[in-house]
Amino acid sequence: MKLLEGKNVIITGASRGIGKGIAEVFGNAGANVAFTYSSSEAPALELEKELSGMGVKAKAYKSNAGSFAESEELVAQVLEDFGGIDVLINNAGITKDNLLMRMGEDDFDKVIEINLKSVFNMTKAVQRTMLKQRKGSIINMSSVVGVKGNAGQANYAASKAGMIGFTKSVALELGSRNIRCNAIAPGFIETEMTDKLDEKTVQGWRDAIPLKRGGSPEDVANACLFLASDLSAYVTGQVLNVDGGMLT
Ligand code: NAP
Repeated sequence: MKLLEGKNVIITGASRGIGKGIAEVFGNAGANVAFTYSSSEAPALELEKELSGMGVKAKAYKSNAGSFAESEELVAQVLEDFGGIDVLINNAGITKDNLLMRMGEDDFDKVIEINLKSVFNMTKAVQRTMLKQRKGSIINMSSVVGVKGNAGQANYAASKAGMIGFTKSVALELGSRNIRCNAIAPGFIETEMTDKLDEKTVQGWRDAIPLKRGGSPEDVANACLFLASDLSAYVTGQVLNVDGGMLT
């Protein structure tokens, strides 16, 4: 039997990058995958087709994770379409990097809304279902930047650090109902998000990583697979670094 056979999973922001990698690894592990995107419809529909070809149920939903109302509507629709939710992965995220001197209020607010408030929105929306079934796993995609900070990313670092506090609090609140909540802190994972960086910066990062390479979406997805499955049945409130040793 596959590790996530018959489990229903929601992943936010899976039209590309890490989210897409998680969807693929989870599909291969037998999970039914509901996933969101905010604007990239064509790649999302392509992923829906790819996952369906694996013999699991899969559906793409256009939903802004930063909107409380849209998150509630999404979860209601997924419950109707899939019949239950066992795992939530809060993965959607954006960057709007700048030195504090040049960072506008909008750049701060938008990053907090999409990266952090989204986690509140989605966790609230699935909470009732997981409480009723007395089981669930919630995984929040933080970042090494949320643990150690980064010049030029005060907004992003604040959002990712906030996710860690949220994760630990939810783990404490919902643990007695067998609902686990953990965070993953990826290091430098090579996706479209990091394509924006110049090659010299990227090479500098690779050289500084003990494993001497950037990570892949699959590296992060495999950590999610552990935290989503019963292999981690006694793990909650943790931050798992998937960073090639960057923070060591
Ligand atoms: P990415 O390639 O830019 O993909 C981001 C995904 O999020 C896309 O599918 C995008 O879909 C979706 N998205 C953006 N805004 C959304 C919204 N408001 N509602 C719903 N979906 C939305 O990013 P990534 O590198 O895969 O990163 C995924 C997560 O890992 C993020 O939370 C990021 O902060 C975190 N992370 C990444 C790294 C890294 O090195 N790459 C390191 C640490 C942490 P649309 O195109 O449709 O908007």
